[in-house]
Formats: sequence, C-alpha cells, structure tokens
Amino acid sequence: MSAEVIKQLQEAVQFSPENVPLRLHLAQVLLQDYQYIQAEEQYRKVLELSHDNIAAQLGLARTFYHQQKYSVAIVVLEQLEHQEPDNFDALLLHCRILVKENSLEAARDLYQHMLQLNPGFRDETLDGIFRMPQQQYSAAAEDEEDEEIEKIFTLEKPEINFNDVGGMTREKQEIDLKIIKPLQFPDLYKAYGKKAGGGILLYGPPGCGKTYLARATAGQIQAEFINVGIHDVLDMWIGNSEKNLHSLFELARQSKPCVLFFDEVDALGANRTSMRNSGASHLINQFLSEMDGIAANNDNVLIIGATNAPWSLDPAFRRPGRFDRIIFVAPPDQEGREEILKIQLRNKPTEDIDYRAIAKVTAGYSGADLKAIVDLAIEDKLMEALQKGIPQPITQKELLKAAKTHKATTREWFNTARNYALYSNEAGLYDDVLKYLDIKK
Ligand code: ATP
Repeated sequence: MSAEVIKQLQEAVQFSPENVPLRLHLAQVLLQDYQYIQAEEQYRKVLELSHDNIAAQLGLARTFYHQQKYSVAIVVLEQLEHQEPDNFDALLLHCRILVKENSLEAARDLYQHMLQLNPGFRDETLDGIFRMPQQQYSAAAEDEEDEEIEKIFTLEKPEINFNDVGGMTREKQEIDLKIIKPLQFPDLYKAYGKKAGGGILLYGPPGCGKTYLARATAGQIQAEFINVGIHDVLDMWIGNSEKNLHSLFELARQSKPCVLFFDEVDALGANRTSMRNSGASHLINQFLSEMDGIAANNDNVLIIGATNAPWSLDPAFRRPGRFDRIIFVAPPDQEGREEILKIQLRNKPTEDIDYRAIAKVTAGYSGADLKAIVDLAIEDKLMEALQKGIPQPITQKELLKAAKTHKATTREWFNTARNYALYSNEAGLYDDVLKYLDIKK
C-alpha cells in the first residue's frame, strides 16, 4: 500500500472525522500496511462513533493479535461474539489466539465448533496441531469419510490360533476360561450364576504379543477379528465419531462370533478428564455404554483391549461388564522364548540350531525382539547367499550375532511399571508385575 494513499485517506478523515466507513477504510488500510498501532487508534475512534461496529471490533482484535496483546484481543472478541456468536472470522482469530496462549483444549473445542458451522472449512496449521485427518472435511468429505470408516472397520479372519503363540500358557488358559469357554458353554455358566461377556484387558511391555494373542484368540474360535487403534477413533472425533463407534460395535454384533480388539485403549481413558468439555468425552461415554450394551446382550462378541500404560486408564473402564478381567502379558520365559524362536523360524531353511542356548541369552526379550533377531539373522544369511550365489541355511552363529546386536526393548517399561506396582497397586492390580520382577509384597 502506497504511503500516498494512506496520506490521502488521513486527510479525508480529517475533513470528515465522523464518517465511519471512511475511517474504517483507513484503519483497514493501515492494518494491511502492518501499521498496527496507527490502525488500533483508528479502530478505537470508529468504535467511539459506532459502538457495536462488528468490522471495527474484529479489526481492533486483529491489531492486538499482531501486537501479541492476546488477552485484550480476547476481551474484544468475546464482546463481538456476544453480539454475533457465529462470526466465523472472529472465531478463527479467537482459535489462533488460544493456540498462541497454549490453551489447546479450548482451541480444539472452538475449532470443532467452527467445523460444525462450516464443514467445508479447513485450516492447515490447526489441522496439524490437532492431528485432524484431512479427509474429514475436505471437499469430498462424505465419500472419503466412508472410506476411512471402512479402513478402520476391516473384518479379518485370522489364520493363526493358540498353536502359533509361543509360551503364554497362563495367558492362553485365562483367555480360554474367561472368554472362550463362556462362549462355548453359555448355559453351564448361567447355571452357576456366572455371567459371560464383558471385556478382557491385556497389558504389558510393548512387543510382547498382546495384539498377536488377541488375533490368535479369534483364530482359535474361528471368529472374525476387528482391530481398532484408539488413535484412529480419536482422530475421527470431530463430526461423526460417536455414530462411527456405534457402527463399529454394530458391525461386531452383526459379524458374530467376533473379537473386537482395541489397541492403545489407554489413550481413550487418559483423555477422559482432559477432554471433559469437548466432543471426545461424548465419544468415551459412547464407548462405555456400547461396552455395557455388549455385556447386557453378550452374544458372541468378545472385547479385548490392550495397553502399555494401564495406569493411565480411567477406572470407569474397569467396572464390571467392561474391562473387568485384566491379564498381564509378560515377556516370554525360557520355554516361551524357545517356542517363539521355533515359530518364527518355521518353514525357513535352518541348520544346527540350539534353541535353548539362544533362549538363554535373550532373557527379558519380547516376542517382537525375538522376531527382530530372526529377521536380522535372515538378512545376514541372505547377504552371504547373494555373495556366494547359493542359498545357505540359517545357523546358530547368525542368531547369536543378531542377539548381540539387538537388545531387549522391555526394560524401560519395567522401570515405570515397577513404581506403579510398588506405590499404586490398588486392588492388587499389578501383583503379576511384582511376581515377574520377583518382588515380595
Ligand atoms: P505393542 O504394545 O507394541 O502394540 P504387542 O504387545 O501388541 O505390542 P505384538 O504386536 O502382538 O505385540 O507382537 C509383535 C510381533 O511379535 C508379533 O506380530 C509376532 O510376530 C511376534 N510375537 C510376539 N509374541 C509372540 C508369541 N508369543 N509367539 C509368536 N510370536 C510372537
């Protein structure tokens, strides 16, 4: 903007100081020219003349925003929003200010409200901050949203069963008694006044086979398996998430027998308090009531949740009929490690393998760690085969070498879990962790 234009406008305003549109125009030109203090002065004068002028209030708030005077900007915006609650420009500025002030929760609420007002709107920066999937409100939002739901709600018929799960004798037994048998013999359980249904929560360090076990449980009873990452659901919380969650449970009910598996379930519980005033708290309540519904008509739908952070889970999730059975999925013991190694090397060319010896040097390793060792050994062998031009079987040597390279990844988890088990072990929730660590109560 040329200085000349600004000068002419200033002269014109001097001539007719009470001309509101003219002064407003000057203020806006100054704002565009980054002259925030001068713009602020002009907006104030407009407001003296025209108290409720929306454009002047918005402009004034903008000048404050650019001068980083966030609290006064909010005061002005709140007054404006009182007059015009759905003024989109004001809401957007308000939302950006909340982000600047680090009031992310309030900002997210506001952004959600804005998207409800204008579903076609999106702001890349805010999307990034709130981890919004872009397709939710892009131009082709509807179609893409359906695809998103289908992606999350994929039905799968697992080809693995308990025979493919190494070790975990105790875990398999518990699952059998707690969810499989009640499913196979409902009348018997009823006769003893035992209600079937509810959910199982698997917890433990990463990579110890929680997902794998849940999948094998479905395979064991030839049930369908639906794997839901809670973060996927949370990402969808704007808009239709409650409806989607309901459809998900409905899908499970229609696909009986079915194992509905929720990974990272703590993400839901942990967010309950912090999201009390937002859309997400409805989602959580919806989740809990869907679970209660499953408990009420336990019809071949098994719910399994998994978490690495059970201490973050809201106790509401552990009430009867919800995740009322809790199983610690520990790193495999010596025998378990041997079995997992055998399973991972099944159908692969091997020679002279002393599984016991490898299991001995891998105490504390998770199933995923053992799988990583096998993968490393295979890569090693593959390189050699490529160089020599003939396939070579995997031997003890590569496996031991890989075990030296890849260290156990469960240690950090136990450092945290130990503290919870020692100092916050309500109702003996973490007794199994103490037992694993060989700590006497
Ligand atoms: P996270 O907490 O990181 O989600 P998780 O406990 O769900 O981990 P999985 O993803 O189930 O762990 O396990 C990782 C991989 O490790 C599995 O896909 C499987 O190949 C292997 N694995 C783990 N435990 C076993 C086991 N008991 N028997 C055979 N393979 C196993």
